[in-house]
Amino acid sequence: MRRFALTLLCGLASAALFASVIRAHTAVTYYPWIWKTDKTQLYHFTASYPTGEHRSRWYDAKNQWNGVGQPHTWNPGAEVPDFQWNTCGNYYGHNGIHWGGYDGQYRVLGVVQTCLMSGSDGAFEIYSMNALIDSAEDWYTGTDNAGSSWFFGNNPDAWSVASHEMGHMTGFYIHWDDDAPQDICQDNSDQHTMCKYIYSGTERSRTPEIHDRHTFDAAY
Ligand SMILES: [Zn+2]
Ligand SMILES: [Zn+2]
Repeated sequence: MRRFALTLLCGLASAALFASVIRAHTAVTYYPWIWKTDKTQLYHFTASYPTGEHRSRWYDAKNQWNGVGQPHTWNPGAEVPDFQWNTCGNYYGHNGIHWGGYDGQYRVLGVVQTCLMSGSDGAFEIYSMNALIDSAEDWYTGTDNAGSSWFFGNNPDAWSVASHEMGHMTGFYIHWDDDAPQDICQDNSDQHTMCKYIYSGTERSRTPEIHDRHTFDAAY
């Protein structure tokens, strides 16, 4: 079995203006690899991950993707001991949700590590997924909307980031706007979940939007 790991950074942005580009998209572009052997995967918080609301928001996030009604689903598994987020884990499906410093406050909010193996059909399939959430951020971990008295303009929204990273963990590997700015990734109410930036003080990425959903739908 050959395994290799790929790392994706998911960042934070302040508002910016971009020219818009319309781009066609297909599932195979955004999902170059999928889960094949077992589409019902478990995610495992590592021991240092904060309990309470931090973990609850991942539960909400997986419900969003499971709600699309595809054969691939995520469910909570048992907590596991800490292990290096940027490794493939010790076994197939050793999918960790890790907590730790990455680059200080701002910039990168989360990182996802995708590990692949050669499957029985010779093509690569996903072996494990690991997400690191940057512990240096001033997270908003509740469920109130942006603009509520609990939610401040500089808070990244933990639920939004969990939904985004969980999207990657389904195999969604390419952000809509990795190559070029997109209308669906601007700082307004049309913003989709699988854009490369999440705007602080917003909660728009909690719920996958139409293109996020139908691309996942087509991949499985
Ligand atoms: Zn991302
Ligand atoms: Zn679409």
